[in-house]
Amino acid sequence: MPALYTSPLAEALAPDLLERFTRYVQIDTQSKVDREQSPSTPGQLDLSRLLVQELQTLGLADAELDQHGYVYATLPATVDDAPAIGLVAHVDVSPDAPASGVKPLVHRDYDGGVIELPLGGTYLDPAEMPELRDKRGHDIVTSSGDTLLGADDKAGVAAIMAAVHYLVEHPELDRTTLRICFTPDEEIGHGATLFDIEKFGARCAYTIDGSALGELQDESFTAVEARLRIDGVAVHPGQATGKMVSALRIAAEIIAALPSDRLTPDTTSDREGFLHPVTLDGGAGAAQIRVIVRDFDEALLESHVELLRSTAERTVASHPGAKLDFQLVRQYRNMHEYVRRDPEVVAVAEAAIRAEGIEPLRSPIRGGTDGSRLSEMGLPTPNIFDGGYEYHSVREWASLQDMAASAATIVRLTGIWAQANER
Ligand SMILES: [Zn+2]
Repeated sequence: MPALYTSPLAEALAPDLLERFTRYVQIDTQSKVDREQSPSTPGQLDLSRLLVQELQTLGLADAELDQHGYVYATLPATVDDAPAIGLVAHVDVSPDAPASGVKPLVHRDYDGGVIELPLGGTYLDPAEMPELRDKRGHDIVTSSGDTLLGADDKAGVAAIMAAVHYLVEHPELDRTTLRICFTPDEEIGHGATLFDIEKFGARCAYTIDGSALGELQDESFTAVEARLRIDGVAVHPGQATGKMVSALRIAAEIIAALPSDRLTPDTTSDREGFLHPVTLDGGAGAAQIRVIVRDFDEALLESHVELLRSTAERTVASHPGAKLDFQLVRQYRNMHEYVRRDPEVVAVAEAAIRAEGIEPLRSPIRGGTDGSRLSEMGLPTPNIFDGGYEYHSVREWASLQDMAASAATIVRLTGIWAQANER
């Protein structure tokens, strides 16, 4: 029987972590696209206020909620001249699945079989979930089946809180200064938008927003969104002979002319990028298509954009009377370009994960995190695992043992940074 916890430290952190995690997930913090204010939804503030209160109770006297819904707090160092290091997690959960009325269930000592959830006909089948297969004997946390769980990213929030609690109770441990930030609206791409890097004042930061045990990510997609507007000629359909030019049909033609056997989310993996139409709307007079374009490599991203542009131009040109407007919006860039300039940031994270007895998993993120934009804004911010799986789904689950390993990694990280000035 292998030891289920990665270390006695992880085991010591687990009860506090679980208690916090199950409390946080019950607060509905779902964010909303096309936001009108920050945060996009009031529920996020309920959790953020609770976190400020809990941080103050732990003795972090400067814990505050700013006017944009960001929580900031400091845990002072116990050694002299150590750098301030940031820890970041997001309080919001994805709009992709129901998120109100989350009732977490703890399945103790998982037997390795199918986990049936009481609601929604939802089940977790290890045959379909290779990661669940390895968790026999773990304590698995799920929703009741009709909502997401919210481990993305409340597992990260709870891991940071449990680690801070532990460090407060163990002032004898060498630790560096920790700057903590809980961000709103990460899931809608705005976690970094109003982040005050100057006030944060950290040398670097870590998002605790990865997934599988051991994950350490310093590469993300570079992301742009293309917005195509097609203008046609709208005429009463009964009088349209030889006159109407349907923008909606042209838009559909453009999408149909894009590759479907490659360069799509479902036909690519690892380091391959894609073109992904996310919305199509309009009518005969005008139609809009939004396409997200992703790659790890800037030159390849450009070539995907050019493929989209030339396909759209050619299609529209074959319909006299139609017009095309093609706009590009930059979303975030591959953080690797920025993080690699300060190699110690990743090296310390690797050392912390190894100190916890885990082999670091270095996989690129097929998406973005708060760290993608923060790194570009000047704060190198790689991403560390938090022990949750199957994000943005009613099948989302987390392993208590893996979440505890994440919290333990944070404790070790602060200890290694405390020695930074001695190296
Ligand atoms: Zn997340």
